[in-house]
Amino acid sequence: MTAFWLQQKSWQDVASYLQNDDRILVPVGSTEQHGVFAALGTDTYVAIALAEDASAGTGVAVCPPLWFGWSPHHMVNPGTVTIRAEVLIEFAFDMLASLAEHGFKNFVLVNGHRIVNISWMQIAAERAQRRLGVKVAIFDPAYMSKEIVGRLEFGPIGHAEDIEISHMLYRHPELVHLRHATDNPRREKTLYHLDPHDPRDTLCYVPATRGDLAAVRQKTGDAIGGRPTRASAEKGRIYHEHLVARLVQVLSQMHQTGDR
Ligand SMILES: [Zn+2]
Repeated sequence: MTAFWLQQKSWQDVASYLQNDDRILVPVGSTEQHGVFAALGTDTYVAIALAEDASAGTGVAVCPPLWFGWSPHHMVNPGTVTIRAEVLIEFAFDMLASLAEHGFKNFVLVNGHRIVNISWMQIAAERAQRRLGVKVAIFDPAYMSKEIVGRLEFGPIGHAEDIEISHMLYRHPELVHLRHATDNPRREKTLYHLDPHDPRDTLCYVPATRGDLAAVRQKTGDAIGGRPTRASAEKGRIYHEHLVARLVQVLSQMHQTGDR
């Protein structure tokens, strides 16, 4: 089966779909610098890849992706587009409200932009559930791969590190130029670990400042964190397939709960 992308269907196709199903996937990413070796659209491409394969496996509809996220810290490098979190909340709410008006009731926001997007997505999701009477789940790869990242021997979450670059090498090798990559392993910081897989006590996430990222770029020649040179397409395949299976599970649970 091929994915049921909304932008490739007619309104009649969507009306027919809604006779039998009210679920929809919404990929959300960013357009932001991912080092000199990876595409600005990395976060959106990984969200698209997950949503597309889950749609192909289940027939569940997919909304056109949201290519922009909240990326104030990545403005350090050109090509980054950051949208204010309050605008993104309104934007996402309007997307869900439009779709809800036509009969969609169960939404899965598929996040490719990590923890930075989650705060505003949670606010939009809560508002949609309260005002529109719909169900919204947020599917984030970091939270949904805790069971396999150790086995894959990935390093901690950073930025353009081995995890997302493996995913891209599997799905979009033409958009990664690993020969230009240099590692910038995360330095241990007491009480500040970004990775939800880390069992230690931690402070909550606050996006870095543009100055922080400029300092990283000055020191290392690039504005990334982690070890992209350890990325591999094969690890990316295993990671991707685990996430798609999880996403399909989320969709089938929505189907079974009778929230329709
Ligand atoms: Zn990314």
